[in-house]
Amino acid sequence: MRNLKHTNYKLKQLLHKKNRWLLGTALVLLFPIVVFIVLNKLYPLTINVSYSPVITASDGSVINAFLSSDDKWRMQLEPDEIIPVLKQAVLLKEDRYFYYHPGVNPAAIVRAAFNNLTTGKTTSGASTITMQVARLLYPKDRTYRNKLIELFRAGQLEWNYSKDEILQLYLNLVPYGGNIEGVKAASILYFHQSPKQLSLAQAVTLTVIPNKPSSLRIGEQNARIVDFRNKWLRYYKQEQAFPETAIQDALNEPLEATRLEAPKVAPHFAYRMFRKYKSQPIIKTTLNRQVQEKVEQLAYNYMQRLRYQNIHNAAVLVINNQTKVVEAYLGSADFSEVAHSGQVDGVRAIRSPGSTLKPFLYAAAFDRGLITPKTIISDVPIDYAGYRPQNYFGNYSGNVTIEHALATSLNVPAVKLLDQVGVHSFVQKLQQADFSEMKAEGDQLGLSLILGGCGVKLEELTALYAAFANQGNYSPIRWLQHDSTIVTRQVFSPASSFMINQILTQLLRPDLPHNAQNSSHLPKIAWKTGTSYGRKDAWSIGYNKNYTVGVWVGNFSGEGVPELNGTDSATPLLFDIFNAIDYNSSNSWFSPPKTIGNRAVCTESGKPGNTFCNDQVMDTFIPGISPVAKCSHLKKVPVSENGKYAFCTTCQPQSGVTLKWYPNYAPEILTFFDSEHIPYQRIPAHNPNCSRIFHDFAPVITSPTAEMEYILEQEERQKLMLHCNAHNEVKQVHWYINDKFVKTAAANENVFFEPEKAGKYKISCTDDQGRNTNSYISVQFL
Ligand SMILES: [Zn+2]
Ligand SMILES: [Zn+2]
Repeated sequence: MRNLKHTNYKLKQLLHKKNRWLLGTALVLLFPIVVFIVLNKLYPLTINVSYSPVITASDGSVINAFLSSDDKWRMQLEPDEIIPVLKQAVLLKEDRYFYYHPGVNPAAIVRAAFNNLTTGKTTSGASTITMQVARLLYPKDRTYRNKLIELFRAGQLEWNYSKDEILQLYLNLVPYGGNIEGVKAASILYFHQSPKQLSLAQAVTLTVIPNKPSSLRIGEQNARIVDFRNKWLRYYKQEQAFPETAIQDALNEPLEATRLEAPKVAPHFAYRMFRKYKSQPIIKTTLNRQVQEKVEQLAYNYMQRLRYQNIHNAAVLVINNQTKVVEAYLGSADFSEVAHSGQVDGVRAIRSPGSTLKPFLYAAAFDRGLITPKTIISDVPIDYAGYRPQNYFGNYSGNVTIEHALATSLNVPAVKLLDQVGVHSFVQKLQQADFSEMKAEGDQLGLSLILGGCGVKLEELTALYAAFANQGNYSPIRWLQHDSTIVTRQVFSPASSFMINQILTQLLRPDLPHNAQNSSHLPKIAWKTGTSYGRKDAWSIGYNKNYTVGVWVGNFSGEGVPELNGTDSATPLLFDIFNAIDYNSSNSWFSPPKTIGNRAVCTESGKPGNTFCNDQVMDTFIPGISPVAKCSHLKKVPVSENGKYAFCTTCQPQSGVTLKWYPNYAPEILTFFDSEHIPYQRIPAHNPNCSRIFHDFAPVITSPTAEMEYILEQEERQKLMLHCNAHNEVKQVHWYINDKFVKTAAANENVFFEPEKAGKYKISCTDDQGRNTNSYISVQFL
């Protein structure tokens, strides 16, 4: 209304100037415009089109699509999908002056009116593309009143939108029968290809069908459609719209199309993206269509073999290590499979990781300066306050190198390392890399965490393994193309990552006979397997410079299978995938970072060699961080000439002693040697005439654990085990409970006693040298 007042004021001014003749002309010209402006305000144009969300791969192709909110297949075209051939065919057929008229073509109206009068038939030539869009947006009966409304809406379209935008709207909305609307949906559902790839014949086919969408149904009336198509092709030939040879080819092109299902590539991924970005008509993802299709095919075939072992599900994630984007996403091997819950998304499922967290722990221990790859660690039975980790095969290896412990996935060394690094500190690292369950359960986790005691997702594991391929930098996975910022967090150092990369290539490849690197085309990779407790989850995660691939195999039902394990059930698929997607890749292996050094270490300890260390090997280390203490794998002991007795400083005879080198084993290793009957060089028994009572090397009570509260079931008459690690010269120990003698036993013998009442207990162990240790526990009965 303000506009009107304003105009009135101007009119008065004009009157004063007595330019009435001019006013008359102006009124005639201005009146319709003023009316239009007022109506435009009162009845604004609202375009409320609901599109089918479309998921595209990195090459722009549609991999999956969902119905619009009004249950239509109506996909939004992108500007570059309106190819010249299509545009030319549509404009020539529907509205050749589209780019020159204001939404209404007066010449066409006059011609149509004339035709109506002379022939008595209604022809459609007068409707411009803009008017057709108006009719598609506001469908109404064909009356003269509605025709006027349509003209008004056409005007509004021209007023608010560019010609290209109006043409795009038209191509998005034209009907193709059933619930298919728009050129893009038609192109994908009829021809299974992008509008960009339409041939001239296909483009013309899509141009003619909207005239009679209900009687020109693709797949049902193809012969009629071809007749109709060719009629228009001949018209285009006459108009010289396209090169003659192109038209001739198009005339001969058969039409074999039928209505197809919408593409269903990467269904779990597509559904995840759809849920997350529902409001976007086109969700442009980073998925690599070729890689995805290869992974889908390989996993499907692979699982056909495994199902005979009662193993039914697999999930795979492929990350590009350069760009941090997801290239393939397989939630399960068969989405359509109902009996074994194929719709569950295994990439996001929370499962027990088995041993797959171990490399992260070893990297953290390298960075803490606790170990290097050649450091010797003992793999013998241990007891952490009642927690007694066991190895996968139930046996123990004694002294092993760190690299061997990791490559063969020994459990005891991993638990020992976690105890040294600290559960809290390790959990913090995993939290830094967005492990959701670590965030949720962080405070309640204990040492069993490293053997799979806390759930993880395949996507979390795979993303953190990718950090090893990126010098220890973790990056959250990128899903969308426009999301181009790469966030990185330094979780491990470049040096520790390199050490892990070297260790994880030391296993035998399942795809190469006798470990022969006989094909230079096969990609080199580092990988780690895992098997969860109860054989419910098999993992294999591998990487090189190009890709990180995570594979999980198991049953969504949680059913364990005796044959299920990471090496046999998941690793073959990992290698199939690498060989398919990275075959013949030229990328070299990781080179050592500047922060890493080489040094000779003693093979007995993995520490820098001492004068008595004869066997030395090269090891990598982190200068300034890795331990520098020299090897002490031998110690000098004064012994009698016949080698029968050992002496201490107070009892060395005047006649002199012989100094001899003896192995300097840790007490736990001696216990292990004795229990396994492994021979070793013993230090001779101490001089029996020695008067000194030692306070060094007193026995260490390893069971029961000091300061622990033991809860026993009274009716079962449970017993507690007494065990100590005594010095290697000790033959016998004496056990006391509450200062009452219990038993004399061999140094490493297990002794049992049955507590009779609840309360505090003092446990004492005295060795045959008179050295004593006390320990206190409390006992409660249920
Ligand atoms: Zn040594
Ligand atoms: Zn002595």
